[in-house]
Amino acid sequence: MKRLFALALCLAAWTAPQRVAAITGDKPEFKKLADDVYVYIGKRNDANAMVVVTSQGVVVIDTGNNQPETRNIQKHIQAITPLPVRYVIITQDHGDHVGGTPLFSPPAAVIVHQRVAKAWAGLKPHLVKAWRKRFAERVEVLKDFHPADLVMSFTDRMTLRLGGKIMELIYVDDTYNPGDVAVWLPQSGVLHGSFAAYKERHPDIRPDYSHGTTWGMLKQLEALIPLKPKFIVPAHGPVGDVRDLQAMVDYLLIARQRVRGMMDKGMSLEAVKKAFHMNEYKDWDRGVKGQR
Ligand SMILES: [Zn+2]
Repeated sequence: MKRLFALALCLAAWTAPQRVAAITGDKPEFKKLADDVYVYIGKRNDANAMVVVTSQGVVVIDTGNNQPETRNIQKHIQAITPLPVRYVIITQDHGDHVGGTPLFSPPAAVIVHQRVAKAWAGLKPHLVKAWRKRFAERVEVLKDFHPADLVMSFTDRMTLRLGGKIMELIYVDDTYNPGDVAVWLPQSGVLHGSFAAYKERHPDIRPDYSHGTTWGMLKQLEALIPLKPKFIVPAHGPVGDVRDLQAMVDYLLIARQRVRGMMDKGMSLEAVKKAFHMNEYKDWDRGVKGQR
């Protein structure tokens, strides 16, 4: 049944209209959200990243949509501090979030959920090779490096402390969530909510695509809302606040209720897919085709 909900929601992503309210600008933006906390907003809803500067070095959260974006993030970091990137935190195991990691690591340690760590440890040789070659200027440094070499992982919660800054990593258990995590900065009220924290954007949930289920997403939102974040950085799209988390809860409940109603009438999966809509959210972003 979970699959049915998920498929139906996926359909929502593809049938939503073009008129959108939550598309980011044509150029990426690097801006300060709070003391020592910066966000890199990807252009036209490319993947976002976050940068936390401390007296002991820098923490990067997600690594940019592609190599030029990662280099751009690095330039912004170098413009604000001479200190090295000490940690990279990955909020989801998709190329547009992890792909820039080899620009920072080694020497930076990489923190991922343990499911992601397991996947990286088992990466096929051609993927390890591609990892080493991702940045031409780093080929020598990465010659004998394996992506799992500097990985630290956790299961439910982890607190990272660096230079007086506290970062809490949160994973909400969901069989279908292979490692999407949130990062909470209690001192500044900033949350990187990853996939669960989209602002006015249809969530592209699919069991075969690795963002979990509507139910799992609701559980994540239930854990994040009580934090009352002032600023929320989603995986893609503009910065939001706690109201956007609540809006996503409403969206998911409507979607689930709609599918449940059709199932109760005995409709087939095909019929449900055909009839399903999220017309209440016509002005939400569907994302650029092919984007995650
Ligand atoms: Zn993405």
